[in-house]
Amino acid sequence: MKKIPRNLSRGIAGIMPDNWVLNRRIPCFLPFYHVVSDEKLPYILNYRYRNVAQFEKELDFYLQHFNVVGLEEIVSKGCTDKKTVHLSFDDGLRQCADVIAPILLRKGIPATFFLNTAFIDNKELFHRYKASLILSRLRDKPDVKTKKYLEQNNLAGEKILQATIFQEKLLNDVARMLGISFNDFLAREKPYLTSGQVRKLASEGFSIGAHSHKHPEFWEISEAEQINEVKESMARVKQLVNPKIRAFSFPYTDSGVPASVYATIGREAICDITFGTAGIKKDSLNLHLQRYPVEQAGDFINNLKGEIVYFFMRKWTGKEKVTH
Ligand SMILES: [Zn+2]
Repeated sequence: MKKIPRNLSRGIAGIMPDNWVLNRRIPCFLPFYHVVSDEKLPYILNYRYRNVAQFEKELDFYLQHFNVVGLEEIVSKGCTDKKTVHLSFDDGLRQCADVIAPILLRKGIPATFFLNTAFIDNKELFHRYKASLILSRLRDKPDVKTKKYLEQNNLAGEKILQATIFQEKLLNDVARMLGISFNDFLAREKPYLTSGQVRKLASEGFSIGAHSHKHPEFWEISEAEQINEVKESMARVKQLVNPKIRAFSFPYTDSGVPASVYATIGREAICDITFGTAGIKKDSLNLHLQRYPVEQAGDFINNLKGEIVYFFMRKWTGKEKVTH
């Protein structure tokens, strides 16, 4: 079997008993999210974020089936306990403090928040959130001229949601054509955490890590730029909260990050632990772990069962480990 489709594993998982699948021995389970909100967020069309009720249901599921631990335990004990789960949240959105942290505290669940340091205090907006805002506007109120301009630049329809950091200027131009001001949006909506909120999260016992400075597509930038993004964001997180564990999660994916970047991170001791987003997988590197993206379409439990079945299908064909 060359490539095992995830759909196939989800189909198989659907007919297997929950407890049998969930009791399999897997590497530690590291689900990650971005935001939890009961509101429609026009700047987030890129993933299926949870509402409060669904999020609480998922947390209760982790508490029922796994041993929920903090980042320290993941670093000190490694990742072999089949019943270990650690949660994390990317991009440093305001809801981390307003919605997520109070729920986690009430349930006694530790977690890590990974920040894009350029966006703290609402100084800038992530280019893919800019793209979402533009698409939301165009869905509400189609605009022929803008549509044509986006078509010419190969960003028509949903394609705009894949815009890279190199197309940010184009996104800014389109926003201007539509009368959208990202600065007004940042000032009014305050989508990101403030420095004060980040310090409060740290004082409440949560781990704070870095998620790059500006969330660029790492596979599109040079090795030197990748290292700069890691260094710059780690330095700013250090300045802000001086975390005990220096953790970094690669934006989007670690696919496209060359082995030499991990070697530099190790040699210059820039991070204590790093994370990818390849799902439930082993990894060939020490202290580089793979997380599971929860915010997908479909039923949460069946998706997770599918991921576990997928892990074993890959394992049986000798492909459960990510190599770099
Ligand atoms: Zn991200």
